[in-house]
Amino acid sequence: MVFHVLTIFPDFFRGPFECGVIDRAQRAGLIEIRLHDLRTWTSDRHRTVDDRPFGGGEGMVLKAQPLFEAVESIWPDRKQGDLRRRVILLSAQGRKFDQGRARDMAEIDELLLICGRYEGVDERVAEHLADEELSIGDYVLSGGELAAAVVVDAVARLKEGVLGNRDSTLYESFSDAGLLDCPQYTRPEEFRGWKAPEVLLGGNHEQIRQWRKEAARAKTARMRPDLLES
Ligand code: SAH
Repeated sequence: MVFHVLTIFPDFFRGPFECGVIDRAQRAGLIEIRLHDLRTWTSDRHRTVDDRPFGGGEGMVLKAQPLFEAVESIWPDRKQGDLRRRVILLSAQGRKFDQGRARDMAEIDELLLICGRYEGVDERVAEHLADEELSIGDYVLSGGELAAAVVVDAVARLKEGVLGNRDSTLYESFSDAGLLDCPQYTRPEEFRGWKAPEVLLGGNHEQIRQWRKEAARAKTARMRPDLLES
């Protein structure tokens, strides 16, 4: 799977994409991440990507022209609505990202994530270039880069082979069971007087399975009762 990221700050991704699971997945050739500097598609001396908003008001807006030309040069023959090559505009106004959306996206061959900046992006990008607007939550970030990193991470780890153990994504929070993951403990058995649950220390797999199911349900009821309702 190929992730394209269109941004004015390609260096931003040095940290997030060069650590842990995502770094290993790239080295193993399971995913590929291509960072594209939006300023490549400018032609003036200052490599301008933004301009003042029509109608006045605060701040600057990312221009449509470099974004359209970037996508058209990355995928010359793509049309809006292509199911194998999706253009996603990160946006606080978008539909909300969740594990279900991550699973759907993991089925797509290539994703191109557009990172907005400033006051946002010329609306014609949402209307005529992107296939969808996607938000990672109801808060406003200063740019789409953090959101893009979140999406790449959540989608990439669902690809076959990226996590060592295939079952890891089957029994975690927001999987088909509809529950949060169960609480986990590791050594020592007792830490500052707090003991790990006795049942986990014995080798009775059926009891452990039962305990985990119950503990997952109890934690979901406590932290996210909304998940049990739906
Ligand atoms: N004026 C806009 C916010 C612009 S923030 C508004 O009020 O809706 C600048 C950029 O950060 C956006 O273009 C978008 O790409 C990104 N961004 C901000 N919040 C985001 C969120 N919750 N999810 C995804 N991207 C976000």
